Amino acid sequence: DNAAKRMPITLHLASPRGFCAGVDRAIKIVEEALARWGAPVYVRHEIVHNRFVVDSLRAKGAIFVEELDECPNDRPVVFSAHGVPKSVPAEAERRNMLYVDATCPLVSKVHIEAERHHANGLQMVMIGHAGHPETLGTMGQLPEGEVLLVETVEDVARLEPRDPDRLAFITQTTLSVDDTAEIVAALKARFPNIIGPHKEDICYATTNRQAAVKAMAPEIDALLVIGAPNSSNSRRLVEVGRAAGCSYAQLVGRAGEIDWRALEGARDIGITAGASAPEVLVEEVIEAFRARYEVTLREVHVADERVSFKLPRVLREDTTRAA
Ligand code: SF4
Repeated sequence: DNAAKRMPITLHLASPRGFCAGVDRAIKIVEEALARWGAPVYVRHEIVHNRFVVDSLRAKGAIFVEELDECPNDRPVVFSAHGVPKSVPAEAERRNMLYVDATCPLVSKVHIEAERHHANGLQMVMIGHAGHPETLGTMGQLPEGEVLLVETVEDVARLEPRDPDRLAFITQTTLSVDDTAEIVAALKARFPNIIGPHKEDICYATTNRQAAVKAMAPEIDALLVIGAPNSSNSRRLVEVGRAAGCSYAQLVGRAGEIDWRALEGARDIGITAGASAPEVLVEEVIEAFRARYEVTLREVHVADERVSFKLPRVLREDTTRAA
């Protein structure tokens, strides 16, 4: 009997992990748009940063593009959960397109903050990752030059604001809680009058997923984060694991990417998933472990999440469906 020879291991499952309310809503928006208007529905940028999700929506009739000029005028287009610069809906309106904005409401909240500070004559500092679609979308709420980007504590020293006493800061929602606190401290030290959100703009889902990794870190030999290489919050989970003392912390897209050699000797393995990674991929990873080891599961629960967001009005209206 093969099972008798299997090594025992414990998988520590982070809770919460995986889908957040913003991702769940964005995926439902594409599904509902397809149900109402039929295929194809265009989606500007990966709706959420996960290939498995994107492939399954593509199979249902979604067409993913990077820019609006790749979409025809006469088909609906959905904007991704990360948010878009103001120029994008403006262009869709100019072309008379039917568009649905799947920007997470917690990202929209940051957009509104930025606009409010701008209206009060403040220049903005954004803590975020250059080139990430959320950063591009948030910076694109205000005219060029009104949002200065900082990625590190060192960047704070290099800032050249118009008026050091007329500043406010905002952040990307998926940053490392601890790294961001350091950058905020540096901003406040250099610009004592800078205005900021009560804490920062990091969302509940990012915060809770990082807290669960920290809670399990002392008990695990290795950490696997299920998520995509372009998923900001997933990459932060790997960093948080390493900072909390996991010498082996790796991002894996799905079970097939696990480096079993590297896990040899590990007896306690932490598993979590980024906010854009579906639970089926977690199940697939657990099954892959069961095929090789005698697995005990242990949940590491740090927070309850009861957040959910309504669909945009255009998809809530009760219309008779064709199918
Ligand atoms: Fe919204 Fe946070 Fe999820 Fe991003 S990670 S979609 S901000 S809930």
